[in-house]
Amino acid sequence: MRSNKDRRESALLENGWVRIIPLGGLGEIGLNMFVVETADDMVVIDAGLMFPDEEMLGIDLVIPDFSYLLEHRAKLRGLILTHGHEDHTGSLPFLLKELPIPVYGTPLSLGLAAEKIREQNLEADLRQVVPRESFHLGSLQVECMRVCHSIPDGVGVALETPAGLVVHAGDFKFDPTPVDGQLTDYHKFAELGDRGVLVLLSDSTNALRPGFTPSERTVGQALEEIFRTARRRIIVACFASHIHRIQQVLEVAARMGRKVAVHGKSMTTTTRIAADTGYLKVPPGVLVRLDELSSLSPGETVIIATGSQGEPLSAIARMAAGEHKQIEITPGDTVIFSARVIPGNEKSIARTINQLLRRGAEVVTEELAPVHVSGHPCQEELKLMLNLTRPKFFVPIHGEYRHRHHHAKLAAAVGIAPDHICLAENGDILEFTPDKGGVVGTVGGGRVFVDGKGVGDVGDAVLRERQHLARDGMVVVVIGLHPQTRAVVTGPEIISRGFIHLQDQEVLFDAAKRLVNEVLMGCPEEERMETAVLKENVKATLRKYIQKTFDRRPMILPVIIEMEGVTHDKAEFMVPSE
Ligand SMILES: [Zn+2]
Ligand SMILES: [Zn+2]
Repeated sequence: MRSNKDRRESALLENGWVRIIPLGGLGEIGLNMFVVETADDMVVIDAGLMFPDEEMLGIDLVIPDFSYLLEHRAKLRGLILTHGHEDHTGSLPFLLKELPIPVYGTPLSLGLAAEKIREQNLEADLRQVVPRESFHLGSLQVECMRVCHSIPDGVGVALETPAGLVVHAGDFKFDPTPVDGQLTDYHKFAELGDRGVLVLLSDSTNALRPGFTPSERTVGQALEEIFRTARRRIIVACFASHIHRIQQVLEVAARMGRKVAVHGKSMTTTTRIAADTGYLKVPPGVLVRLDELSSLSPGETVIIATGSQGEPLSAIARMAAGEHKQIEITPGDTVIFSARVIPGNEKSIARTINQLLRRGAEVVTEELAPVHVSGHPCQEELKLMLNLTRPKFFVPIHGEYRHRHHHAKLAAAVGIAPDHICLAENGDILEFTPDKGGVVGTVGGGRVFVDGKGVGDVGDAVLRERQHLARDGMVVVVIGLHPQTRAVVTGPEIISRGFIHLQDQEVLFDAAKRLVNEVLMGCPEEERMETAVLKENVKATLRKYIQKTFDRRPMILPVIIEMEGVTHDKAEFMVPSE
């Protein structure tokens, strides 16, 4: 009798199959990376990163685990970028360092990626794609189609596989009046739907928001209103990659006879790349350098800068704190926060706004005027995408579980069979044949932490240590023991960081030292010879004492040094004070 597994394998051979493996992007908004795999070929869509949350102490970046790609490198034909945002391109340099595969994308996405790759002193094989022009990656036929988003030149991707058509909608919205006139390709998505879509992967970011996302142009109208009434300097904070937002600021400024200075490294870089590739159209004579502003009256000037999230080192935060070298906020200035509040940044944004208001500036946020719209689709647009493509199977992507859960409900509402909707997790292997689909296994993997030059050397254990240190501080006990007699030559010396100020509690620490001494004296001969056992005993005694006396649980670090009679000072020297 044939086993279920045999039956499944023969079905796969007859019908062809495709696997879709999310290596990131399903547990978070960020870290987007999908593998599309067939019997012969493998393609990656996006290579994103995620910025750490407040629990990831000292972590600079989070990237997906590339192990699965490294294991199957022989099948890997290339990587397709849907657009130039960090959550889709940020881990590209890390990936290319290990796997130098060709990268496909539209001109702006490639331009932004090239900058990142150059910064890491890497080289890459970048290949430009043209929407609606298909190309082959191994046996897979690939076609990209335009989508509107909060960065120009975004695309969705359609892949013709032996099992059927797989469509990744990219980060999109259905803006009916986009700033650059490039509509989301309704016709192409509808045509794909007519051909028959096996699987649709679609953006869940705004799945909890009813209605439609307003057009980006509405922001231009709101900016125009504010510019018309502002008497003094205007400062606009937005994301550096939001070229259409910057475009609208430039246009409104030009109409009102104001000059614009672009401020901040990432803002300068992206506007340069966007202008070079033709995606930013700078009205003649409107741009000036920051140092040229001083020769103009404040009412003739606009500054575009980063810092919409209150990032402490950003230009806006420094202006707000009065620490900016060239720009001083004066009463009557208008500061516009033209961006959404990314969850987790509420406090730093509020701090910046408070400081700006104290200096007499007018501060305009999304709550006060429509100075920002989302780049992602709301519920009615999500339903429209589902109706245009009419997929057999649906995988909500780009969101936390709650976003994807609600997106799944919308899909069921438009008639997708509930058992054809896959709420997968990162690392799941989704397998589809022309009539079956679902999770068939996992590739493991997970997130990799980047800290300084270390990629992956900080794991969960190190993070837990950092959290412990941050919460409770550290107490170090230094003891010098004679190598043979094991008599105490120096110490115990107690040093603490982030726990309690020693001078204030000298008496209590003296008591701790006495306790440690008693442990050392009271140890049976054989335990005295075992440094590890001594350390454990010292640690347990101190832990108990500190908990009883202070009701705290700092990290306790016994350091036992073998020495023949070194002075007290030397022992102290061995644990640096900072
Ligand atoms: Zn995006
Ligand atoms: Zn995204």
